[in-house]
Amino acid sequence: MTTELEIGLYIFILAGFLGYHVITRVPPLLHTPLMSATNAISGISLIGSLVVAGANYSRLSTTLGFLAVICSSTNVFGGFLITDRMLKMFKKREEFGIQHRRFNPKLLLALPVLVIVLLVLMHGFRRSGTDAESSGAVFAATALRYFYILSAVLFILGLKGLSSPKYARKGMLLAALGMLMAIAGTLFHPEIVNYRWITVGLLTGSIVGGAMGLRIPMTAVPQRTALSHSLGALAASLIGISEYVRHVAVGLDRVKMTTIGLEVVIGSLTFTGSLMAAGKLQGLLPGSPITYRGQNVFNITLLATVVGTLIYLVFVPATSTLFFVIVGLALLFGFLLVIPIGAADMPVVIALLNSYGGLADASMGFVLMNKIQIITGSLGAFGKIKKEEVGAAAEAMGTVRSITPEELTVLFDSVRSVIIVPGYGMAVAQAQHGVSELAKLLSTRGIDVKYAIHPVAGRMPGHMNVLLAEANIPYDQLYTMEQINPYFPEADIALVVGANDVTNPAAKNNRNSPLYGMPILEVDRAKSIIVLKRSLRPGFAGVDNELYYDPKCMMLFGDAKESLNSLFATLKS
Ligand code: NAP
Repeated sequence: MTTELEIGLYIFILAGFLGYHVITRVPPLLHTPLMSATNAISGISLIGSLVVAGANYSRLSTTLGFLAVICSSTNVFGGFLITDRMLKMFKKREEFGIQHRRFNPKLLLALPVLVIVLLVLMHGFRRSGTDAESSGAVFAATALRYFYILSAVLFILGLKGLSSPKYARKGMLLAALGMLMAIAGTLFHPEIVNYRWITVGLLTGSIVGGAMGLRIPMTAVPQRTALSHSLGALAASLIGISEYVRHVAVGLDRVKMTTIGLEVVIGSLTFTGSLMAAGKLQGLLPGSPITYRGQNVFNITLLATVVGTLIYLVFVPATSTLFFVIVGLALLFGFLLVIPIGAADMPVVIALLNSYGGLADASMGFVLMNKIQIITGSLGAFGKIKKEEVGAAAEAMGTVRSITPEELTVLFDSVRSVIIVPGYGMAVAQAQHGVSELAKLLSTRGIDVKYAIHPVAGRMPGHMNVLLAEANIPYDQLYTMEQINPYFPEADIALVVGANDVTNPAAKNNRNSPLYGMPILEVDRAKSIIVLKRSLRPGFAGVDNELYYDPKCMMLFGDAKESLNSLFATLKS
């Protein structure tokens, strides 16, 4: 074991430990921004990609590096922009209407300027040396290392900032600065000799990522996150292939072959797995599970073949055909891993793919022996969202009564407390603004309004928080599942807006239900239940909801936005 490798492993373990502790402190409220923030930070694969794209190793390496630069920079630009868009929306009740003190623009400008001045100095030193041993070149290389250390600290502070909505934006600004330092410093990496493909790659990535970050609607954030996982993983895989091809002719030691093998295997399976998840979330692929006989046995055999071949390659690295067979098999495995998952397990898949993306990044750090990539990859790999919050959530009929907006208006005359339960249908209908308007109107009538947020409502952890924040709903009116459940028995009305699975009592009562064991919002304990959805069709899990047959339940059929609009209009008149 080489000393470099030992140091890398220490860093990997410590950063993983730190990542676990920092990220588990992020409240559910900020889980969606957390996902895009880790996506953006995992764009650190850009560091390695820049070196490979600019080092003139070979035409193939330059091409692969160039593609990796596009993928990673798309993640960096898109990830930070969309995270900031989301975080801007999180406000407390008293903060509405108040003009926030902006970050001091001079400070904002001063920091990048400082970075650039340091870089120019480094560049000067690098040029002043005629060979790598000269004091100028040594100084430049040392300065680059310190840049990376500072970036790592900024990333950690950035993630730490996400433990409260109050500091989240400032934290992300620090993380973005860390990324800027790491990228800018790498541009002066001694191995980079050609900037043409780097420039084109960075420009393309910034345009694509920028457009995605600025224009993607909040309802499409889950798909974007899954797509972003796939781009990051693809970058890792491409760099792994490039490094294999570059070194195989001169001989690969076992350590190098192991790290390259892990990088391409994890990168490739995360690439296709995340693409599948994005396709399912976007509705391009069927959301229901695709299963067939012998599926598990086939998948396990495939995985065993990948692992077996990888072990063989570690001892006989020159068998290039086998290397590319492994890449193909890992791509297939990622695809097969996600197709049988369609229902309540999807959030776990997304969180898991996030971790795999981090592992692929960390492996890339080992391949290139770049410590900032090991740290960042490890932060993302182990710092996943608390299992009990997402994972736990992965686990007899009568007549249905319907109600009209006019009848509902009469009902509202006598209520004192309402709990609003948003779900995926609210996102589809873009009804968050309608919800907000109605809630304000109810509040002016002295009705107490609370929002009940299930950790997996929607299509991504924290999905509802982002949409409600977009509609200017103060985050202190939002209650987590554990906080709100005791309030349901006292609530006069539970107003369910496009939520379905997260309210299904079968999760508590019916052992045969696929939802059995999933913690739910106990809307069935409210005095009356009003459900806004278009039909009796099931939700994501494909399971009928017995709640709709509860004598206390009334259905307001129709598109949620339209129903809310007419309810608002009749209430107002
Ligand atoms: P859901 O169970 O998927 O139900 C959403 C409901 O919205 C549907 O039953 C649909 O009924 C209704 N709807 C659709 N369009 C509508 C519109 N325009 N107006 C009104 N209603 C509309 O949603 P959920 O209760 O939020 O539960 C989330 C589900 O997604 C869980 O099964 C969860 O495991 C899964 N999931 C969550 C995540 C995550 O991390 N949050 C990720 C992936 C999957 P109609 O067709 O009758 O209108």
